Amino acid sequence: MTASTQIRLAARPVGEPQDSDFETTTEELPGLADGQVLLRTLYLSLDPYMRGRMSDAKSYAEPVPIGGAMVGATVCEVVESRSERRAVGDVVLAYTGWQTYAVADARATRRLDPEVAPVQTALGVLGMPGFTAYAGLLEIGRPQPGETVVVAAATGPVGSAVGQIARIKGARAVGIAGGEEKTRALIEDFGFDAAVDHRAPDFEEQLAAATPDGVDVYFENVGGPVGAAVVRRLNKLARMPVCGLVADYNATEVPAGPDRLPGFMGRVLRLSLTVRGFIQDEFVPTHHEAFLREMGAWVAEGRVRYREDVVDGLENAPEAFRGLLTGRNFGKLIIKVAP
Ligand code: NDP
Repeated sequence: MTASTQIRLAARPVGEPQDSDFETTTEELPGLADGQVLLRTLYLSLDPYMRGRMSDAKSYAEPVPIGGAMVGATVCEVVESRSERRAVGDVVLAYTGWQTYAVADARATRRLDPEVAPVQTALGVLGMPGFTAYAGLLEIGRPQPGETVVVAAATGPVGSAVGQIARIKGARAVGIAGGEEKTRALIEDFGFDAAVDHRAPDFEEQLAAATPDGVDVYFENVGGPVGAAVVRRLNKLARMPVCGLVADYNATEVPAGPDRLPGFMGRVLRLSLTVRGFIQDEFVPTHHEAFLREMGAWVAEGRVRYREDVVDGLENAPEAFRGLLTGRNFGKLIIKVAP
């Protein structure tokens, strides 16, 4: 028998998740049935979408039930196998959530080759966030040479990939991030053409200076005042892939102020804008193979760089998750669960 330590959802958070919204339990796992594997979690991915799973508001996915283990993508080692597909010692990508061990169907895992890339990149640049950037930018944003592409949360795994892929396609990449250290990294580490600090008092002036020819593609990751400021700089026929609205994920009420929808719709009409929301899954059948091939090559050649923020210990997941929604993370946030 193997015991798994799990972090479960104890209550639905109101606003920012509190420690009391989680509980840690230890569960005896059942023995393996045919086709199953016992997995030891090495890395757990923390992603903004998890805030949605904590809530029972209508969404594109079912919420985690109260008392259920928090969900999430993991990189795991196979420690026992009753499947010909996986051998003991294999390292796999799985979706086993906030826990130290899990029993999974071998078919629900993907084997990772540590020779090709560090295994935890399957949670970031070569995983779901990198894919989100690739598919959303190329399919909806369609950046053309010489155009200006703007993205916020730009040092994160989605934003940093958006900017770098935009540059590979010949566009000018402008990144928005919080604070001086992050904006410096945008230029020096990720090769953006310009960087804007959304926490600076002169944010809008910085944005105007960084986008002298307006904005052709705004890859929307954050919403809020940052999104509103970029929308005011959109050019005729601009495209706006709506990927995420992280500024609002902890919101408990509609923001105060005038209703800005009529102004926004007027702009959509006058400028012939394309505004298209998406959840990355929809592009998996059509784009995932090309993503693994192209992004794999760009990362191997150093044309796409990535940054990881690795926090030790499953017990620190709730606190690290709070930081993800407020910008304390610097790069792809990963919990190192076991050595
Ligand atoms: P990040 O690692 O970039 O983390 C989120 C970042 O958002 C923070 O680090 C912070 O960066 C920024 N942020 C938080 N609050 C605000 C605010 N009020 N205004 C501006 N920026 C803010 O996350 P990911 O790269 O994993 O995800 C980026 C976005 O993509 C999220 O909205 C996420 O939900 C979305 N997403 C959507 C998917 C889809 O299928 N549609 C799939 C995957 C992700 P800073 O300090 O720079 O402000």
